[in-house]
Amino acid sequence: MNPSPSIKKRLIRSVGDSFAFRNSIRALEIADRGNKYLRVLTYHRIDHMDRRHDLDPSLISATPDQFARQLNWLMRHFNIVALGDVVDAIRGEACLPSRAVLITFDDAYADFYLHAYSCLRERNLSAALFVPTAYPEHSDRQFWWDRLYNMVMYHQDSPILETSVGSFDVASHASRYQTLRSLKKLLKQLPWQELNSIVDAICLRPGTGPCPQTVMTWGQLQEVSDNQIALVPHTHTHPLLDRIPVSEVREEIELSIRMLRQETGSSLPAIAYPSGQYSNQVVEEAKKAGCEIGFTTNRGINRIKNCDPMQLCRINVGRETPDNVIRFQLNPGSQPLQWVFG
Ligand SMILES: [Zn+2]
Repeated sequence: MNPSPSIKKRLIRSVGDSFAFRNSIRALEIADRGNKYLRVLTYHRIDHMDRRHDLDPSLISATPDQFARQLNWLMRHFNIVALGDVVDAIRGEACLPSRAVLITFDDAYADFYLHAYSCLRERNLSAALFVPTAYPEHSDRQFWWDRLYNMVMYHQDSPILETSVGSFDVASHASRYQTLRSLKKLLKQLPWQELNSIVDAICLRPGTGPCPQTVMTWGQLQEVSDNQIALVPHTHTHPLLDRIPVSEVREEIELSIRMLRQETGSSLPAIAYPSGQYSNQVVEEAKKAGCEIGFTTNRGINRIKNCDPMQLCRINVGRETPDNVIRFQLNPGSQPLQWVFG
């Protein structure tokens, strides 16, 4: 029997704080001083919990204080590398330092510029930012999951939300959250067009006004790109690439590469698959567009010599994940247990 997510979270929290667990991390870190592995951390938003009511707080990976603390212990125990170093290592042109970690941020949310960027700059650190290029300068364009969050959490006047994929309970705050989780899971299985039509139909209801800018502007992206933040194509409109026709996959990837180059001069041979969804065909299209590295949301760390560079694994940072548990997951010795954290 699988434990419920909340029991699992509590268990992970209490084990993560234990003396024995801390000791086992130290033992794993002493055992691994080599440079065979690349660890990639996934962050989404860095923000204060109550700052943006229109955005789903479950996407906050860390508050600014938490993030600064995490950077401090990462610097003590690991070597934070730039995406350019990773490209060189994958090509076999250079070696990574021992215990290498690449920090990545999904979706270029404006709070990266407000909070994460200053923490990184103060410490002279690099990171990679995944940019869906249709969104900068367009406050009228919101990600489908943010539109859904706004509508389900705040703008339903009836206790039941009727949609073409079923009826959902939105009578209480808790049931709205549950509905949001169920809807997102269900929609991600559908063809991309159908997902959008359903979200459009739900969000057509009256009550939502224009939202403030969600994604960074081109000016901000240019500034961070000039200061050690690598900009990575994350497609143009952030579709689920395994849910659109293959001709559109190529177009989405190429347009995002072209726009990043045009707007910021950035041209790294990498791609981040939106929501981690991809297929063999998607990988082939990305390679044809010139990509040598692809970031997935598959959990794990990468052995440089024999990983598939177009399917790099990452470790997700959740706001409630104890620092010790993140540290544990960054060790090769933790790999057999990665499923526990999924
Ligand atoms: Zn994304």
